[in-house]
Amino acid sequence: MKQAAWLSKKLSSGKILCQACAQACSLEEGEYGICSVRRVEGGELKLLVYGFAAAVNVDPIEKKPMFHFLPKSKAFSVGTVGCSFSCKFCQNYDISQYPQEHNHEIKGQHYPPKHIVDLAFYHGCDSIAYTYNEPVVFFEYTYDTAKFAHEQGLKNIYVTSGYETKKAIDLLAPYVNGMNIDIKSFSDTFYKEICGARLKPVLEAVKHAYEKGIWIEITTLLIEGKNDSDEEIRGIAKFITSLDSAIPWHLSAFHPMYKMLDAPRTTISTLHRAYKIAKEEGLKYVYVGNIDDNDYESTYCPSCKERVIDRSGNIGQFVMNHLDNNGICPHCGYQLEGVWH
Ligand code: SF4
Repeated sequence: MKQAAWLSKKLSSGKILCQACAQACSLEEGEYGICSVRRVEGGELKLLVYGFAAAVNVDPIEKKPMFHFLPKSKAFSVGTVGCSFSCKFCQNYDISQYPQEHNHEIKGQHYPPKHIVDLAFYHGCDSIAYTYNEPVVFFEYTYDTAKFAHEQGLKNIYVTSGYETKKAIDLLAPYVNGMNIDIKSFSDTFYKEICGARLKPVLEAVKHAYEKGIWIEITTLLIEGKNDSDEEIRGIAKFITSLDSAIPWHLSAFHPMYKMLDAPRTTISTLHRAYKIAKEEGLKYVYVGNIDDNDYESTYCPSCKERVIDRSGNIGQFVMNHLDNNGICPHCGYQLEGVWH
């Protein structure tokens, strides 16, 4: 279903500038954006996947991953085809890169915003997550769905590579309660060569979303030899603490995928080394992911050090939350940072 991609503007040159993401595509009639799902047709930018989801699931919120956001709840998760990044290690390349690799072909099923909200309630979800591919490429679909969901009492989560423009974040902020943002590396070269993007806009988006009051969690997929040097890990940790040492950081294990089949799986010792550096830099909440490690996936009170949220089994399978409805530690009364109700 095509709809106007209204987060755009006409330039004096006659081209249309897409204002959704930092790729800032400036397009002529008939041209597609880098994401392959926004195209100029009839003199205006169109979103080609409005109301057309390629992946829809009920997921534990922990799987996003969001660990300080309504623990144990379910998130109704939606994604389309297309992406503004082209990460060689993409874990969802079958949808994110589908139109780019199939001559702009779109695939999916009709899920208009109201239907998504109805399904979220039907499945007992407390939130809707825009995830699987980069949600800002289907901005207008997420905006309408999030606004309607918000009016009905649901929360909204963006799981994103952090390429939103300030304008996109400003528009989303009244309705989007949480974001999990990837900082894929602290090297611009990594972003350019492996992801088809740049580092600076990502850091700016994290900062802006934080300043707008959106609850932020950060994820970094550690790939040995590519983005796991002590210096790089410390750089990301310092950036996070410069904003807020209570922002949770998820350090995830890489599995060979897509165009990076020759890179090795991340070892537990690499994840533990990164964890140690993050703690040295003062981060309160650090987690390892994509491996089974209950100790490093659980939440500890920063004040008394007691374990206050137990996580075990497959991600989201067994979660025991000892905090009260306001995130208060039962042992010492410290209020943990997060969205707890
Ligand atoms: S959302 Fe798509 S069309 Fe818009 S700037 Fe980003 S890559 Fe380009």
